[in-house]
Amino acid sequence: TTFATFNLKDSLVAGLAKIHFTKPTPVQEQVIPILLKGQDAIVQSQTGSGKTHAFLLPFFSQLKVNQDLPQLVITSPSRELANQTYELAKQLLEASGETFRMHLYVGGSDKERQIEKLSHQQPDIVIGTPGRILDLISSSALRVDQVRFLVIDEADMTLDMGFLKDVDAIASKMPEQLQTAVFSATIPDKLQPFLRKYLNAPQQVKL
Ligand code: AMP
Repeated sequence: TTFATFNLKDSLVAGLAKIHFTKPTPVQEQVIPILLKGQDAIVQSQTGSGKTHAFLLPFFSQLKVNQDLPQLVITSPSRELANQTYELAKQLLEASGETFRMHLYVGGSDKERQIEKLSHQQPDIVIGTPGRILDLISSSALRVDQVRFLVIDEADMTLDMGFLKDVDAIASKMPEQLQTAVFSATIPDKLQPFLRKYLNAPQQVKL
């Protein structure tokens, strides 16, 4: 299998060649078609499996140009993990020549400055930790009323760290027809109420 076998945007397939990704990993092979079809997904996979690109590629492929409002939101339980995802996303966008605006929102960064910037311009892609993203939404700075895609990365860790209620509050502000993908090393029972509340006939992938 090559990346060209999926219906990904041409610029992204070209970008992958530039960064020398020649072959999709198993999680990418399974998850990309599901997310391109518009289905919700619950994916059990480990770090190092290529899971980040399993959601970046299909969701970046579906972003609209010039919407000028957030379309994709990705939550991570820690600054470090959010930053890693941001760096991989940035590398992919740059290699693909895509000009979508993307912003990283994590605790400890300058919130007043973020609010000021958001009053002039909204990003297409939001990556961050649940607390800060929720803060920016609650301050009426970050707009999520046109978001179409939500990724909850490291959901089990998000739950363990007590951030699932923030993710719930974030999701509750988004449109009903949201497409949601949950990535987690394990799927603890305590995650089930959230999954039932927000995911619609989710496809389950376990590797
Ligand atoms: P992740 O599991 O998302 O944390 O990714 C692990 C690492 O694998 C990242 O540094 C990616 O850049 C890299 N990677 C992801 N997919 C591929 C691929 N298909 N080919 C080569 N490297 C990849």
